[in-house]
Amino acid sequence: MYNVMSSKAEEFISDEEIRDSLIYAEENKNNRDVIEQILKKASEMKGISHKEAIVLLDCEIEDLNERIYELAKNIKQEFYGNRIVMFAPLYLSNYCINGCKYCPYHLKNKHIARKKLTQDEIIKEVMALQDMGHKRLALEAGEDPINNPIEYILESIQTIYSIKHKNGAIRRVNVNIAATTVENYRKLKEAGIGTYILFQETYHKKSYEELHPSGPKSDYAYHTEAMDRANKAGIDDLGIGVLFGLNNYRYDFTGIIMHAEHMEAYGGVGPHTISVPRVRKADDIDPDVFDNGISDETFAKIVACLRIAVPYTGMIVSTRESQASRERVLKLGISQISGGSRTSVGGYAKQETPEDNSAQFDISDNRSLDEVVHWLMELGYVPSFCTACYREGRTGDRFMTLLKSKQIINCCHPNALMTLKEYLEDYASEDTKKIGEKLIKEELKKIPNKTVQNKAKEYIENIHSGKRDFRF
Ligand code: SF4
Ligand code: SF4
Repeated sequence: MYNVMSSKAEEFISDEEIRDSLIYAEENKNNRDVIEQILKKASEMKGISHKEAIVLLDCEIEDLNERIYELAKNIKQEFYGNRIVMFAPLYLSNYCINGCKYCPYHLKNKHIARKKLTQDEIIKEVMALQDMGHKRLALEAGEDPINNPIEYILESIQTIYSIKHKNGAIRRVNVNIAATTVENYRKLKEAGIGTYILFQETYHKKSYEELHPSGPKSDYAYHTEAMDRANKAGIDDLGIGVLFGLNNYRYDFTGIIMHAEHMEAYGGVGPHTISVPRVRKADDIDPDVFDNGISDETFAKIVACLRIAVPYTGMIVSTRESQASRERVLKLGISQISGGSRTSVGGYAKQETPEDNSAQFDISDNRSLDEVVHWLMELGYVPSFCTACYREGRTGDRFMTLLKSKQIINCCHPNALMTLKEYLEDYASEDTKKIGEKLIKEELKKIPNKTVQNKAKEYIENIHSGKRDFRF
């Protein structure tokens, strides 16, 4: 029985409800009246239900599809403006006891190099990331209670926050580790993590069980209910995602929106971020074995419809996507991207050889952070290294209130410009610097509150004279 308020995975992600929604969407994909009504509701920018969202995703009427894309762009603009938050993944360890069929770190893969960073190696990696200009990391580690116990993760977080190298500092550490207990989530909260990220991979229970034949992750309910345990432990910035290509995309699209609805209804706060990775080629993994691959067209429509359904959420694409694909979805709703990423353990400080390769997946976008920043600015975006909310304690519902109040233009925009200025001063190439300085000048004028605008100008001058870390 479907119940958004239930604590049980199979009730808040009800298979029956998803199937009914898929049938409803199939029946209405050419029903102009129904789609117009949904679009009318969506234009209020307060979100739409999973059942409505899947109708938009399935919509086959050309002019209405144009309106869907247009609305997604407007919502993105309204909530996030032209800012794009930058981050990088940091792989701590690829030891893993799970059997995930789509990931090269699965236990039975005997030919991938297994590595776990020591604290000294973490310092080297973080210094390399700081030298690129990164301020925000997503920690990645396989599940292995012996090699990667929670104590190791906590110690690593402490190490990362403690490194101050030249003008660099990691100001927000997001964590993507396996589903765990309330007690461990409490420890992560105390360690000062930013967002806790956990991908569902697929919401389809039977496929989930087939894709995860062994290890603790094979427990569908324990995995699906993880966000509620994290929330109970006091972590209120929570990031969800599915791995598109594993299962039928319509099913998982509906499932992830139901999850967002559940988090908001049950835990009082919806997802801080939604990630939309697609299956990629990797060691011991052939993407062709997953016959649910989606086209770039479908991918773009998924991004647009998620943006409409959950307007307030941050949306993330990684370097799994090519430059062209990233460019397209940036317009439609993506608000965060990684840049200059390495998906191997220790890959920032040291280039890996093919024999030594510990990467989780092949990267499609191999450009450096400077190149990505340059490219974003040429497209008219403001790359942002801002971490102000987390550091001001604006997490969970306080963050959502700020976002929903649309006051973010007087807060995020100056913060984005100030952190971009820091990047230009400390790390950018001459070319990037030139285009960035011009952009900052223009963008400062767009801050509506004059007091904030003047203060931001003053802070930016201070950054030029060597001071750092201003924020609103
Ligand atoms: Fe391990 Fe995560 Fe890879 Fe699964 S997806 S094998 S849990 S690292
Ligand atoms: Fe994000 Fe907060 Fe910075 Fe805005 S002020 S960019 S919401 S961290």
